Amino acid sequence: MSLPIELISTDFDGTLHADFENPPVPPALVDLIERLQHQGVKWVINTGRDLSSLMESMGRAHLRVKPDFLVTVEREIFIHEGHRYAPLEPWNSECMQTHRELFARVAGDLPRLYDWVNERFDATVYADDYSPFCLIAGNNGDADAIENFLADYSRSVPSLTVVRNDVYARFSHEDYNKGSALTEIARRLGITVDKILAAGDHFNDLPMLSIERARWLVAPANAIPVVQETVRRQRGFVSRHSVGHGIAEGIEACLRLANAAQTPA
Ligand SMILES: [Mg+2]
Repeated sequence: MSLPIELISTDFDGTLHADFENPPVPPALVDLIERLQHQGVKWVINTGRDLSSLMESMGRAHLRVKPDFLVTVEREIFIHEGHRYAPLEPWNSECMQTHRELFARVAGDLPRLYDWVNERFDATVYADDYSPFCLIAGNNGDADAIENFLADYSRSVPSLTVVRNDVYARFSHEDYNKGSALTEIARRLGITVDKILAAGDHFNDLPMLSIERARWLVAPANAIPVVQETVRRQRGFVSRHSVGHGIAEGIEACLRLANAAQTPA
C-alpha cells in the first residue's frame, strides 16, 4: 500500500520551533519526523527566514532530523544533497530574475514610501538582498496600518504583493510564496495534492494553508486567528497544543484519517 501522506511542509518559527522551549523542537515531533522520513515521506521546512539564519537556528536546536527541502524567504528552494543544501534550478534563478524586474519598477517610488512610514511610525524600514522594502513595525497594530498602506500602493504595480509575518513585512512578487514553492517541490517529486500536509501559524503561511496546495492542513494553538479559521474552514486540524507539540498531534491525526481513507471498507 502506498504512503497516505508523502510530503510534509512545516513553517519554522512558532510552528516547528519555539525559542522559549528547551529543546526548541519537541523530541516527540523529531521522533515522528524521523520515523516518517524512514518510511519515505519527504519533509520541507518552509520559512520566511533566509538560508543562513535558518541554518544557524537549526544548528543551535541540534536537530537530529534533516529536512529534504528548504524553502527560504518564502520563495527560494534548496534540496538536501549529501552535506549541503543545493539551490533548486531553474526555480531559484527564475525567482531572482522575476523579482529583479519587479523591483526595478518600484524603485522610483521607494523614497516616498519610506518617508510615509517614517513620518508616522516608530518603525524600521530598509532594503536587503531579497526586497527593496522591508519593514519591522513597533507592534502588530502599527504593522496592520502600514500593511494596509503598502497593500494600497501594491495594487498600482502589477504582480507586486506585501508578505506579512507578525511585525515584519516585505515587498515580493505574487507568483512566489510558500504555497507556490510547495507546489513546485511536489511537482518535482511527482506527489499529488491529496498526499501533502502543510502546517503553519502566521500570515505568510496562508498561501500554503490551502487545499489547492495541500489536502491536509494543521495549525498549532498559538496560530493567529485568521490561520486557525482558514485551517478549520478547509476541514484541517487545529491543535489545542502549541508549536511543535500541536504539529506532532496534527500530523498523527491526519495520518489516522488518511490511513482510514486509504483502507478499503
Ligand atoms: Mg511562523
